[in-house]
Amino acid sequence: MKLVLLGAPGAGKGTQAEILAKKLGIPTISTGNILRAAVKNGTPVGIVAKEYMDAGALVPDEVTIGVFKERMAEPDCANGYILDGMPRNIAQAQALVDGGIEVETALSIEISDQTIIDRMSGRRACPECSATYHTQSAPPKKDGVCDKCGAALTIRKDDEPETVKNRLAVYHKETEPLKDWYAARGKLKSVDNQPTIEATTAVVLEALGIK
Ligand code: AMP
Repeated sequence: MKLVLLGAPGAGKGTQAEILAKKLGIPTISTGNILRAAVKNGTPVGIVAKEYMDAGALVPDEVTIGVFKERMAEPDCANGYILDGMPRNIAQAQALVDGGIEVETALSIEISDQTIIDRMSGRRACPECSATYHTQSAPPKKDGVCDKCGAALTIRKDDEPETVKNRLAVYHKETEPLKDWYAARGKLKSVDNQPTIEATTAVVLEALGIK
């Protein structure tokens, strides 16, 4: 299975990607996670990426495509992969094709902007171990404290309300046209976001024909 997950930031791509990856025994390649690790480690890529990520903008294609291709060259990608957050625009989609990285399906998780704004305003992250929580749907045992390592939880800079609005605007302008791009190639499937993670997984599996 070579799959791209499309959808606005906060649509639950990362969560569904992890569930699918476990079920299918293939890796999820998340450019967001790769870039966040680079920022945390202060690498040259991270130093460039941070400024864009903090503003909710896309990191320049040459940077993103570079780190992505490096990851794709690792042996665990040989039997399939799930792409989460890549491609983010048509130039990136074309760069994948030009680099011999073809996907079979692009699955779009559809969700309204308002649902995303409500959802992202409750997201909390652990700055130490990267565990994620949600004040409503997945609260930590103790308010504001990471269950796993005890660190104080923070709001990711890119989950702050102003940044979320920017990220949605970028999504509609840059990423959403990919739906037509993949549809024109006969690869697009769409599902509606559901109220729970489990219900969304069910519609995703059905759309992909996975039992
Ligand atoms: P994500 O975790 O996928 O929401 O990504 C977080 C941030 O990383 C985005 O808002 C972008 O700044 C950056 N990013 C992730 N993937 C890409 C990509 N394929 N192209 C450009 N920027 C990206």
